Amino acid sequence: MANPLIRNLDLLNISQHLYKSDLAFAQKMDAEDPLAHYKDDFYFPKNENGEDLIYLCGNSLGLQSRHAEEITLEILDQWKNLGVKGHFNGKRPWVPFHLSLKESMANVVGAKPEEVTLMNTLSVNLHLMLTSFYRPSGKRTKILIEQDVFPSDRYAVESHIEWHGLNIDDNLIFIPRDQHSDTVKESKIKEIINEQGEEIALIMIGGVNYYTGQFFNLLQITKWGHEKGCIVGFDLAHAAGNVPLALHNSGVDFAVWCTYKYLNAGPGSIAGAFVHEKHHTDQGIPKLKGWWGHNPEIRFAMRDDFDPAPGVESWQISCQPILSLAPVKASLDMFEKAGMKALRNKSVLLTGYLAYLLNELKNDAIEIITPNLQSARGCQLSILLKKGDKRIHDQLVERGIVADWRNPNVIRIAPTPLYNGYEDVWRFVDHLSNVLE
Ligand SMILES: *Cc1c(COP(=O)(O)O)cnc(C)c1O
Repeated sequence: MANPLIRNLDLLNISQHLYKSDLAFAQKMDAEDPLAHYKDDFYFPKNENGEDLIYLCGNSLGLQSRHAEEITLEILDQWKNLGVKGHFNGKRPWVPFHLSLKESMANVVGAKPEEVTLMNTLSVNLHLMLTSFYRPSGKRTKILIEQDVFPSDRYAVESHIEWHGLNIDDNLIFIPRDQHSDTVKESKIKEIINEQGEEIALIMIGGVNYYTGQFFNLLQITKWGHEKGCIVGFDLAHAAGNVPLALHNSGVDFAVWCTYKYLNAGPGSIAGAFVHEKHHTDQGIPKLKGWWGHNPEIRFAMRDDFDPAPGVESWQISCQPILSLAPVKASLDMFEKAGMKALRNKSVLLTGYLAYLLNELKNDAIEIITPNLQSARGCQLSILLKKGDKRIHDQLVERGIVADWRNPNVIRIAPTPLYNGYEDVWRFVDHLSNVLE
């Protein structure tokens, strides 16, 4: 019999009463999950008895796939066997290597291939984008960010305010948390933009907040910002590979993301950048330049004058770290095969199931601070411990759960649709329930 949950996926409004709290239900869901086989493509860390840990930490570092290992070893082999000739020869010549993943990267973030590139690391890309897109002038000098912004993002925007000789206190404004919840009301964002929009040079928000897991409406925020003449950029560290994105159609000016979280490309792997095509031919945008931003047709002519590459590639500076690109290629192949839509559908069900089981515990020591609305969250749920402390997390670790602790008192749990299943979620909640007792 067809599974009613899987049949109703497109409705995105899964009624909670279809879930059941017994283990058999979780196992049945796994058995009927068309994406379940992807789990076998990943390596799971193990405990001392050689058993797989329950890995729910893809929001921090995605797991290694067999495919990532394979392509990385191929690149190493090519280097071993061909030396410098590997740039243009072998199975995967390095000079055009990045072209093989442009389209699949663009698909994951909803962009045109010429609008996305992979370069540097995330905070560096944010600096490059701020160099180009934070251009305070006249009374338009402010940057608007979330109160719970990731520290690196805050340091980055502050340093650019200082770089322009401006005062941080007067020029950095925050979107406050709602008084009654830990998340941000989007109406509050609109209100601030309406009131102060003429003084805001740049709006820079985490597409999915790293702490609360709140997924913002990028299209709406971009519209509000543009109506007041602000530039709008997003940090998609927790969004890329997690939630559906339509960067091009949303009119977003720029975006940056890393590939080691939901994109499973390994620690410190190369990061992504998006610049909307409307900015591509604007020669007035200041840019930090390097030879890899030069027109690739005549890059090796070693000319003195800078002829910018078309599209976002003119923001590139250095040649590409191929060993870092290899696992990204592997990951994007898998995303392309599974499809963002199918992944999101499973993700909505899986995280909905996590929320259901947590609510079933009816334990007032915990509270989910992530929005309950599916369109306002990705796969992560942030669980606030109202009673108890980090020892609860530590006991979960002892029981073989890999989750993520954030001070002062939040456990982040991210069941990822590529390599997590319903039984993982069930076992986590079972352990949590025991630990809370
Ligand atoms: C993970 C994360 C970072 C990390 O930046 P790196 O430059 O990759 O070290 C920055 N910002 C946000 C919002 C993140 O989630």
